[in-house]
Amino acid sequence: ELANRMAERAVDIVKFFMKQGQMMKPGDVIDADTAELVASEFGHTVKRVAESDVEEGMFNIEDKSEDLKSRPPVVTIMGHVDHGKTSLLDAIRNANVVAGEAGGITQHIGAYQVEQDGQKITFIDTPGHAAFTQMRARGAQATDIAILVVAADDSVMPQTIESINHAKAAGVPIIVAINKIDKPAANAQKVRTELLQHEVFVESMGGEVLDVEVSATQKLNLDKLLEAILLQSEILDLKANPDRTAEGVVIEAKLDKGRGPVATVLVQTGTLKTGDILVAGNEWGRVRALVDDHGGQVKEAGPSMPVEVLGLQGTPQAGDRFAVVENEARAREISEYRQRLAREKSVARQAGQRGSLEQMMSQLQTSGLKEFPLLIKGDVQGSIEAIVSALDKLGTDEVRARIVHSGAGAITESDVSLAETSGAAIIGFNVRANKQARDASEQAGIEIRYYNIIYDLVDDIKAAMSGLLSPER
Ligand code: GDP
Repeated sequence: ELANRMAERAVDIVKFFMKQGQMMKPGDVIDADTAELVASEFGHTVKRVAESDVEEGMFNIEDKSEDLKSRPPVVTIMGHVDHGKTSLLDAIRNANVVAGEAGGITQHIGAYQVEQDGQKITFIDTPGHAAFTQMRARGAQATDIAILVVAADDSVMPQTIESINHAKAAGVPIIVAINKIDKPAANAQKVRTELLQHEVFVESMGGEVLDVEVSATQKLNLDKLLEAILLQSEILDLKANPDRTAEGVVIEAKLDKGRGPVATVLVQTGTLKTGDILVAGNEWGRVRALVDDHGGQVKEAGPSMPVEVLGLQGTPQAGDRFAVVENEARAREISEYRQRLAREKSVARQAGQRGSLEQMMSQLQTSGLKEFPLLIKGDVQGSIEAIVSALDKLGTDEVRARIVHSGAGAITESDVSLAETSGAAIIGFNVRANKQARDASEQAGIEIRYYNIIYDLVDDIKAAMSGLLSPER
């Protein structure tokens, strides 16, 4: 590879090493200092760059405004469970399968495109905000418009509110689909009024949020919903440059028995073509084939188009960014760099694992500290007080529990960061950790223990603390 970079013959470099008394063959690894020596011996000027520069140039090429062309909107459907997200996704897809087209067969690849008034719309095929959040957590934003589904025979529910908050946090405009209007108990007006309390102001309430009454099962007003999406998309003025190397995001990825690693990607800018070499997350590969949402092979995919990519060496993760690079060497370099980074991170995480009671105990023991820091969250204030006083009684001259924080409610991200900075274990009594807290605790290597019986909790802590007592006693 060094020969390649210098545009020299590999055999000449091997010869150079031989003269130095070193037997080398192509593919052997040399360190940076040696590489620098060799390069300067061959008359090249060496510029040492930081490893992080390896990725430079990806994801930040500016497009000239005259190169930008309109692109289809990418839509995610969110809302409370059972309000009809899946039914709506299916209804829109099925209504749009043109008779005779590929036998009307649709392929679930993680996203699909439909056409309305000659314009395309891309739907992310995973309902709910889980996919949305996962992508955002990995730094990718795939969605342009969020469809908030609310059942007209129900109310604004907890996941409706969560969806609103996610869309708002991401700065993604909402279109409200008031679903199940075929039901006798349907009351669309009630939904609109309830949405006011969560600062979603639909047009008839003097706001700017578009809303459409639909029935997914009766296929009512689906075209109106698509028209609303196109209208919103026009306001957003979505554009991308199709005439450049492709970049985008991985929507789904799996290891297929027959086809190897298969990733569904959403092209966000540029055009992805077969034969392209791409890096996706820690993986890379040469695009062997592109498959669209009807199961047909395509030669290329432009902005906002979802396609399955075949030919990757490994399976990337949903939410990973991808980009086409100039050659295999560069693809390898970037993916190796990222894999090493990921390995180092996971090793560091394991080394830093301090959450489990046993590990904490032994760590405290070696450090000579005789305090056992704990963060306690419970369902009600009463049980927390009972736990704290029981733990207080366990304390001896030698070792005692130190409660760094206690409170009622679910375990949150801020609890985890508090536990991290104070080296505490987290105890949940009749409460769970929310998703962000779980992710954060995994990242930080902090174990969260759950209990629903005070006796069990106190017993475990007692056992852990007795391990802290000096061994001679
Ligand atoms: P999701 O959990 O939000 O994906 O909801 P589903 O799509 O699974 O729908 C939940 C239930 O509501 C299913 O039994 C659907 O058949 C039903 N449902 C969905 N849309 C409608 C609709 O427009 N009208 C009626 N009557 N039922 C619907």
